[in-house]
Amino acid sequence: MYLKIKDEVIEGLPKDADITEICFEGSEIVVYVKNKDFFINHDAPVRELVSKLKKRIAIRPDASITKDMEEVEKIIREIVPKEAEIDEITFEPAFSRLTIEAKKPGLVIGKNGETLKKIKKETLWAPVVKRAPAIKSDVVKTIRRIIFKESEFRKKFLNKLGEKIHSTEKKEIEWIRVGFLGSAREVGRSCILLQTPESNVLLDCGIKPTGDEFPYINAPEVDISKIDAIVLSHAHLDHCGFIPYLYKYGYDGPLYSTAPTRDLFVLLSMDYIDISQREGLKSPYSKKDIENAVKHSIILDYDEVSDITPDMRITFQNAGHILGSSQVHVHLGEGLHNFVYTGDFNFERSRLFEPTFTKFQRVETLLMESTYGCSSEECIQPRRDEAEEKLKKLIMETLNNGGKVLIPSFAVGRAQEVMCILADMEEMKYPVYLEGMLWDATAIHTTYPEYLNRNLQRKILHEKDNPFTNPMFKRVGSAQERKEVIESTQPCVVIATSGMLVGGPAIEYLKAFAEDPRNMIIFVGYQAEGTLGRKIQKGWKEIPIVGENGKRTALPIKMRVETIEGLSGHSDRNQLINYVYRLSDKPRKILINHGEESRSIDLAKTLHKLLKVETVVPKNLEIIRLK
Ligand SMILES: [Zn+2]
Ligand SMILES: [Zn+2]
Repeated sequence: MYLKIKDEVIEGLPKDADITEICFEGSEIVVYVKNKDFFINHDAPVRELVSKLKKRIAIRPDASITKDMEEVEKIIREIVPKEAEIDEITFEPAFSRLTIEAKKPGLVIGKNGETLKKIKKETLWAPVVKRAPAIKSDVVKTIRRIIFKESEFRKKFLNKLGEKIHSTEKKEIEWIRVGFLGSAREVGRSCILLQTPESNVLLDCGIKPTGDEFPYINAPEVDISKIDAIVLSHAHLDHCGFIPYLYKYGYDGPLYSTAPTRDLFVLLSMDYIDISQREGLKSPYSKKDIENAVKHSIILDYDEVSDITPDMRITFQNAGHILGSSQVHVHLGEGLHNFVYTGDFNFERSRLFEPTFTKFQRVETLLMESTYGCSSEECIQPRRDEAEEKLKKLIMETLNNGGKVLIPSFAVGRAQEVMCILADMEEMKYPVYLEGMLWDATAIHTTYPEYLNRNLQRKILHEKDNPFTNPMFKRVGSAQERKEVIESTQPCVVIATSGMLVGGPAIEYLKAFAEDPRNMIIFVGYQAEGTLGRKIQKGWKEIPIVGENGKRTALPIKMRVETIEGLSGHSDRNQLINYVYRLSDKPRKILINHGEESRSIDLAKTLHKLLKVETVVPKNLEIIRLK
């Protein structure tokens, strides 16, 4: 199989291309050539070959013809107009590839790609152009450093992986089954094993946000060393928090995700280790394991099709839930079965995202979330515009009264949603403080504007209107700065983690703000049973806390307590049902996970009744055969 494809590539390219190497880098075929003219002008023959072989093909220069790196930097800065504002040029010699990061990437590419073509011609490197983010993030920088530093390792890893994916002739798939290692009849530790005789693929591998319950990785059907791929839907810890653990215990295969998902995964899992340490708990893995995951990461954009095993091919599509969040479409065999895993999704346009994608060509089995699956009122969200109005009103009331507002929030998603609402408020004349991690998460949003909805993208590209760089937002980066915010008498808004008040800087602000009745705490996200957030929300007038001397004391809650529903990143019940109606292909079977038991069952019953389709609410450790 492997050799056959190679032969077909050689045959399809001109004889004088002077090919020095043909290899697979993941699912992409890469041809290294010595012929300079062919490297510069190869579009037509390659396009023909791509449509014939149905594989992605890249042509790169052989290392022997690439120019010296120092000289190349100079050449590029001469060719590209100053106004492009080049930030950085980085090299990956193992791939004969360089990346140019610039404030105005359009000027690096030039009209009809002329400038880029000139760069290719003058440097003989394969250039990639990226937009320099409006806010710099240490995490993004660290990740890029690892990727560039490990280019030798990554080339070998991708070659080996490519050989494995293309090693066998395609044969009939005897059976397909899906196993639930978590997230069945619960919210948390999403971890799903999709298997055929040929492949073992994990969809997500998360933890439970409120405790230390991990997925059932020790189930008899799981052998970490035999997993072929991990596919990550999005970067919330209940979906990604356990991935580094797998690398710690012997997994050395690829981690597929979108680029923002990878970056947010690193940010959140690093923070998870910090929080565990601060609370005197042992984290199940170390930062080294997270770095190892980064070394093995493979980035796919929405709509980009990629073979991940000999009989599985995946495509990510927008899920509308958080930055980079994806539904995963898995195509099994040649047209045999199509499996869609929704992950967490929002079927509504939000301030940040387009509604989730529904135009799958074929879906035989759908696995969907059911966070708001119940038929009672608590699963129906108020309208988004009403929720926004209420939030604005509460904030202004408090500030104009001389009070301070605390908004506990997850670092990713809701916080940026709230920031967009605040940035739109002309009457807002007070500072809004963002704790460090939240700032980093926001920086990652500005790194990938193409993952945001069209309206917000436009605002970010016209730097003046970028909500995230609005001067009202101030970063709180140290304990000293936090102290200053707390001690200041000026009214302000503070957005801080954690969203459910289970640790994080939000607790410090709570202690400082709670006893003044002019202040207000506003919950904008779901508060799980048993969390401090839930207790305050339910109206407890006193809550137990650990005081400065390390002793337990009671903190009186005299501040106003408010909750805003309707800013959720999840579909509410009506949207869940509408989504299934709107799918361009009707699934034959619907599996339901990611919800409290009664909610999952409720949704399953309704969908069965409305659509006359088989619905299943599996239990953890259950296996369901799809073929
Ligand atoms: Zn999520
Ligand atoms: Zn989730």
